[in-house]
Amino acid sequence: MLDSDAETVVVLFYCYQDSCAASLAAEQRLLGAELGLCGRVLVAAEGINGTVQGDAAAIAVYEAAVQKSFSSQIDWKRSIDKSNTALFPDFVVKEVNELVGFGLQGSEPLDVVAESGTRLSPQEFHSLLENPDELRLIDVRNTFEYDVGHFDGAIDPGMTHTAQWPRFVKNNIQDLKGRTVMLYCTGGIRCEKASAFLRRRLKEDGAEVSTPVYQLEGGIHRYLEAFPDGGRFRGANFVFDKRAQMRSGDGTVIGRCSECLGPWDAHHGGRVCTVCRALVLVCDDCDASSEHGEYWCPEHSNLRGSYFHFLDRFSEKELQAQAQSLQLLLDKEVGTHRKNRRNTLRKKLLQVQDRLEHLQLEPKHGETTSEDAEVSVPRRCRACEKPYCQCPGVCWGFWKEIAQE
Ligand SMILES: [Zn+2]
Ligand SMILES: [Zn+2]
Ligand SMILES: [Zn+2]
Repeated sequence: MLDSDAETVVVLFYCYQDSCAASLAAEQRLLGAELGLCGRVLVAAEGINGTVQGDAAAIAVYEAAVQKSFSSQIDWKRSIDKSNTALFPDFVVKEVNELVGFGLQGSEPLDVVAESGTRLSPQEFHSLLENPDELRLIDVRNTFEYDVGHFDGAIDPGMTHTAQWPRFVKNNIQDLKGRTVMLYCTGGIRCEKASAFLRRRLKEDGAEVSTPVYQLEGGIHRYLEAFPDGGRFRGANFVFDKRAQMRSGDGTVIGRCSECLGPWDAHHGGRVCTVCRALVLVCDDCDASSEHGEYWCPEHSNLRGSYFHFLDRFSEKELQAQAQSLQLLLDKEVGTHRKNRRNTLRKKLLQVQDRLEHLQLEPKHGETTSEDAEVSVPRRCRACEKPYCQCPGVCWGFWKEIAQE
């Protein structure tokens, strides 16, 4: 698909503008096929968002064609890729309800363009960070992105997906009121909507004027172009393609392996949370020595050792211990906001009990009983459940391999 001899251009872009998603999608599919592009494009009634790769000439044609459909100037964040590899397996255009899923569709549509926070250039954003008093600097990306790199002093709202932003706002609005709030994300798209949502809430509380909300225009991407030494950004900028990250100038590794806590900041499609499948930082050494490859994200770290996806490798004794600790965890999860947690735990507890029952019914062979013998089962991919030798995590998102003919 891509010319293998030439370097390629990767563009990251978005535009919020009332649109007809169906006709945008049709136009995109045509462009992708005609120009031999690869990438991911989302279209919605509120606009477009994409990461697209192609050779320089094709990308220039693509940009001009897309711009024609939008009245406001699109900010094309370009980077050169010299690896000669397709960063995506194909070109996929998806029609979605929201470009950034807050789960708000229908209930209270936001006018993102009119309601979003004041945009600051990288230089303005940088200067404001010089005086951190009374500031609330918030990273509106997911925790697995924050963990490999973020601005000094930034708050991590602890999200595994964007739909958790409204909950963070609800729980923290009292603390934010009367402060200067600064938001940032990878390329700017999430801040537009996150700031609009926050300002709507502040307005409802009559705190709109006393609480200025700013957003970093062009996101970390543009900031690192303006401050090649990293400025106030530490670590790497996670990106949603096979590069997985773009390193900032300061070269520090701020991520930590969730197993050994050693410095590590490279995500891998085969190293995901066994509970929620969010990416988890695990170093190569720990991954190589793990027989099962089941890991836990920060949100689910208290389930380590109690919650496993694959149960067939455990003995009766081990399963009984798991059932016991799952029950204890379940007893601790009280309150309406823990309902999802309780459901997750309950479901797993039932699976463990079922498995135990199955083992107890199974005829026992010879001397070794399932009570003490660990069953030997090879490691499997957490996402697709195939043996890991067949799928070392290449079914996950943008790591997905191009289908073999
Ligand atoms: Zn490690
Ligand atoms: Zn998790
Ligand atoms: Zn897989």
